[in-house]
Amino acid sequence: MEGNKAENREAIFNGIPASPGIAHGEAFVVNVENIPATPEKVPEAKIEAEVQRFETALKETGEELDKIHKQLEEEMGVEHAKILDSHRMILTDEVARKDTLKLITKDKYNAAYAFTTVINKVITTFQHIEDEYLRERAADIQDVKRRVVRNLLGQKVEGLSNLRKKAIVVAKDLTPSDTAIMKKKYVLAFVTDIGGSTSHAAIIARSLGIPAVVGLESLSHNVKPYDKLIVDGITGQVVLHPTGETVGMFEEAQERFREMEKELLTLRDYPAVTLDGHTIELSGNIETADEVEDVVSHGAKGVGLFRTEYFFITRKNLPSEEQQYRYYSRVVKELAPDPVLIRTLDVGGDKIARWASTSSPEANPFMGWRGIRFTLSRKDIFRTQLRAIFRASAHGNVRVMFPMISVMDEVLEAKEICEEVKADLKNERYQMGDNIEIGIMIETPSAVAIADKLAKKVDFFSIGTNDLIQYSLAVDRGNSRISYLYNDLHPSILRFIRDTVTAAHKNGIWVGICGEMPGSVYGALLSLGFELDEFSASAYLIPEIKKIIRSVTLDETKMLVKKAIKLSTATEVKQLLEAYIENKRPELREFIPEAVK
Ligand code: PEP
Ligand code: MG
Repeated sequence: MEGNKAENREAIFNGIPASPGIAHGEAFVVNVENIPATPEKVPEAKIEAEVQRFETALKETGEELDKIHKQLEEEMGVEHAKILDSHRMILTDEVARKDTLKLITKDKYNAAYAFTTVINKVITTFQHIEDEYLRERAADIQDVKRRVVRNLLGQKVEGLSNLRKKAIVVAKDLTPSDTAIMKKKYVLAFVTDIGGSTSHAAIIARSLGIPAVVGLESLSHNVKPYDKLIVDGITGQVVLHPTGETVGMFEEAQERFREMEKELLTLRDYPAVTLDGHTIELSGNIETADEVEDVVSHGAKGVGLFRTEYFFITRKNLPSEEQQYRYYSRVVKELAPDPVLIRTLDVGGDKIARWASTSSPEANPFMGWRGIRFTLSRKDIFRTQLRAIFRASAHGNVRVMFPMISVMDEVLEAKEICEEVKADLKNERYQMGDNIEIGIMIETPSAVAIADKLAKKVDFFSIGTNDLIQYSLAVDRGNSRISYLYNDLHPSILRFIRDTVTAAHKNGIWVGICGEMPGSVYGALLSLGFELDEFSASAYLIPEIKKIIRSVTLDETKMLVKKAIKLSTATEVKQLLEAYIENKRPELREFIPEAVK
């Protein structure tokens, strides 16, 4: 779908780099919000043709829905495909059709505007209905409206599940579950208008090794299907309609990136040990069992964070104990004897499970019914998951971790439930591993403040910097408008990490980090200097982190931390680290994002 030459002038958009790598290809536009349907008067002679166009758009939309229905049925089952029933009802609604035809034939409005007007009224009615289920159907009606209007305007924009050839996915936003079901073989890269570098869609991109840029503000409104794009996930640049010269330049950068990746992979079988002999346990973060292969091939030992919630949010119904047991066991067996740290369900925030919808949406979901708060109030779900995890522990080395801890009582209650579940399983003669470590995430400021007390109750800590930063600095991790404030080098974060490590080590427990902080050269250097015992990161970040660990001494990084902690701003901390690299370890310069190109 080529536009004219003036429209196709090269344009550069700057966003937030979310997953490294460079891609070049055609756009596949999804989730575009309302395509504006402006009112236009249709001349009398063209009314009949406008009516025909409307009927054709309804037919095309029906065919689209049939296609998606078939696909959903094949991939996820008959029950799942039923989610399209309400779409179909509105599409075939005779009242809506007749009202639209009246606006076209009597008032002489264009079809897109007429249909939008009629459907908007229906949506308003639905939005005011008391019944939650019916109210939620407003989103389905909105989707049908978008599809019909797109077909009327000739914009063939489809759902992500329809992606059948390699393309760059362009969207206003992508939910974590959208991203989790992306077919890696077709997605060259993705770009979104909103989001931050630690929003879960970005994290998944890193786990899958898909280049991504987020926080591009209005990009999705400027891109049409099949437009040519370049995505640079290292610098955060996106080029629309690139010239041949620009393509050449990025292809060179892409080649350099691939070479660097290849070279880093040669470290796969080497230990993560500093020049002065200090070894770090370097493990991988995974969202799905399928990622285990990548973790191993990128040289991590074991899993330091298994985000089990993806098994729950990508399906319509709650998974059973047996389904979970088989799923966790697969990972545990594949990695044994290396450890697999299974985090209990962390739904809430931006990770919404359809089966868990609350009666009304939360105003501040990241500070709401999330993580351990959710599981302690849904003990049926919690116990089922724990049973599956403890049963899976029979096959290897399992650690269990609770997310979003903010008060001591949560730890005590969760541990008590673990003991009850283990006792039940023993009575039922199930096999379990010995000495299963139980730990918690340190990702709220209150947990840091009482870390000395918490350390007496658990076997380990894992610092979740993604959330710790958002809660400490009061910066929503998914909000691109304030992303300039989201900074892991802020001295408050450094002090929080120091306090957590001190509390852990004083009480004889190990402490790791599973947030994204070690994924940057600065974060990796500081994490080392804090004397964290374990780093866990997305598979594709592991080789770079290993290289950094192997290029420095622990003493140097301890000295860096000592100095950094005394500084007042993140900028000063960054300057300190830059100067260190420049003067002492220039070979690490290639990992500074701005220096890549
Ligand atoms: C974190 O908050 O740092 C973390 C690792 O957990 P998640 O990103 O899943 O919230
Ligand atoms: Mg978290």
